[in-house]
Amino acid sequence: MAVVEPPSSPMLPGQGTASARRAARAHLLHNETVEHYRQVLSEGIDRVARTVADARRPCTGISPDELDSVVSSVDLDRPLADTTAALDELVDVYLRDAIFYHHPRYLAHLNSPVAIPALLAEVVLSALNSSLDTWDQSAGATLIERRLVDWTARRIGFDDRADGVFTSGGTQSNLQGLLLAREELLAGLGAGTDRHGQWPRLRVLVSEVGHFSVRKAARLLGLGPGAVLPVPTDRSWRMSPTALARELDRCRRRGEHVVAVVATAGTTDFGSIDPLPEIAARCADAGVWLHVDAAYGGGLLLSRTRSHLLTGIDRADSVTIDFHKTFFQPVSSSALVVRDGTALRHATDRADYLNPRWMADRDIPNQVDKSLQTTRRFDALKLWLTLRVTGADQLGELVDELVERTSEAWRALSADPRFEVVTRSPLSTVVFRHLPEGADPELVDEANLHAREALAGTGDAVVAATRVRGRHYLKLTLLNPRTTVEDITRLAELVAEHAGDHVRAHHADTAPDTAERRAACPSMTSSPSA
Ligand SMILES: *Cc1c(COP(=O)(O)O)cnc(C)c1O
Repeated sequence: MAVVEPPSSPMLPGQGTASARRAARAHLLHNETVEHYRQVLSEGIDRVARTVADARRPCTGISPDELDSVVSSVDLDRPLADTTAALDELVDVYLRDAIFYHHPRYLAHLNSPVAIPALLAEVVLSALNSSLDTWDQSAGATLIERRLVDWTARRIGFDDRADGVFTSGGTQSNLQGLLLAREELLAGLGAGTDRHGQWPRLRVLVSEVGHFSVRKAARLLGLGPGAVLPVPTDRSWRMSPTALARELDRCRRRGEHVVAVVATAGTTDFGSIDPLPEIAARCADAGVWLHVDAAYGGGLLLSRTRSHLLTGIDRADSVTIDFHKTFFQPVSSSALVVRDGTALRHATDRADYLNPRWMADRDIPNQVDKSLQTTRRFDALKLWLTLRVTGADQLGELVDELVERTSEAWRALSADPRFEVVTRSPLSTVVFRHLPEGADPELVDEANLHAREALAGTGDAVVAATRVRGRHYLKLTLLNPRTTVEDITRLAELVAEHAGDHVRAHHADTAPDTAERRAACPSMTSSPSA
C-alpha cells in the first residue's frame, strides 16, 4: 500500500512560503494529521512484519565497509518526502542486514525477542511523547512509573520505604546506585574532606567478573584510578565472602573508605550469582552500602520456582534491574530501586523553570527529583502493558524455560569430548570452546575466534566471545525461548567444523612444502610414491 503524502513544494533558501510551511506542518502529528499518521505507521509496521517474517538468518554477515558505502551515499539534505521511498531506502541501509534478536540462532549478547504488548506501548509512548520529569509534562505517566517501581520493590522484598526510578539501562542504574552510596558515605563522614583538607580515599569492591560499567561509574564519579578493587571469585565465578572480608579489612587498615560493595546477581559471562546473604552480612558488619547489580538476573524475580536464587537481595541498599534483558522489553528499560527512598535526595537539584521548591511543598509528584536525566522516555509503559496483557507469571515461565534449556545445552556440550565448557550457569549462558586435536593453546584460541567469525560471516549464527583465564572462549547467551537444544548442538557442530578447518589450514601453511621436504630428504626423490 503506497501512502499518500501531504502536498509538498520545494523549499527555496530564504523563502519559507506559506504553502511550504503548511506542507512541513503536515508531517507533525496533530488532530488534522491522524489519518496520515495511521497510514504511515501501518505501512511501517507492515515492513517490519515482513522483515521479521522473512529473516532466515540472524545476520547477513555484511562487512562494515560494504554497509558504510551504502549509508554514506544518502544525501541527508535531500528528503525523499515519500514514506514508501524512505522505507525502501531503509531496507538498504538497515533492515536487510540488521541483527535479528528474534532469530533462534542469535545467541550472542543479552538481547531478547521483545514482548508485543511492549511494542504497542512504544507506539503509544512515542506518539504522546510524555516526558517523565515533571507532573506538568507527564501526569498519569508519573503515577504509572511509580506503581511499577513499587511493584519491583515488592518483588525484591523491600518494604514501603523503598523507592526508585527508571533509567536508560544497567550502566546508568549502576552509576546512580554508586552516586547515592558515595553521597551517603560522605554525608556520614561529615564534610567532604578530612582534617587535612584531603578527599578521603574512596573504594568500590566488586567481583573480578563484575560488569565494566562499575569501573566507568567510578571514573565518572571522580573516584580516581585504582578505586575499584576486584574481589576474587570461587570456582563457580561467585564472589568469595572470605576474600571480600579480607579486602574490607585491608581497606579499613589503609584508611580507605568503601563507598559500596557491588554484588552481581547474574554475571554477564557466566550468569553466576554472588552469595548475597553472606555478602550482605559482611556489608552490615562493615557498615558498607550494598549495591546488587541484578541487570541480568533480575528476571528470576518473576520465576515461581527460581526466585530463591536471589535470596538476600532484599538486604541490598540499591538494586539494578534491566527490564530490557530478562523481562523481554525493548531497549531501553531499566530501573534503580533503593531500599530507603530518602537516599534518592542525592539526585535532587532545583531549578525555577522546572521543579521549584513550592511545587515540592505542595506535594506535586515528579520523577526528575530522583533521576540523573531530565527529559526522559516513558519506558515504564512498556512493562506496564506487558504485565497487563502477558502477565508476570507468564514472563516467569519464559525465564524458567531459558534456564532449563541452558542446562540441557550445558549437558549436551559437556558430554561431548570435543568441547570444553567452563561452568554450569544458574542463568542462561554457556561459555565453551572447541578443542581441535593437535593444536597448541594459541592455535586453539585462533581456531575458536575463527569459528565465531565464520558463523557470523555465513549468517548461520551469532555467538559472542570472551576470555577466561587469558584464553579465548565462545559464549552463548540464551534469551530466546524458541532456541532449541538442536539449534545449539548443530551450532556446536559448525564450530567444530570451522575450527577444524582453521587448524588444518594452519598445519598446511606451516608444514614445509613438498619440494622443500624432497630437498631435505633426498631418498624421497627416488621413491615412486613420493
Ligand atoms: C548488561 C549489564 C549491565 C549494563 O546494562 P546496560 O543496560 O547494558 O547498560 C550491567 N551489569 C550487568 C551484570 C549486565 O549484564
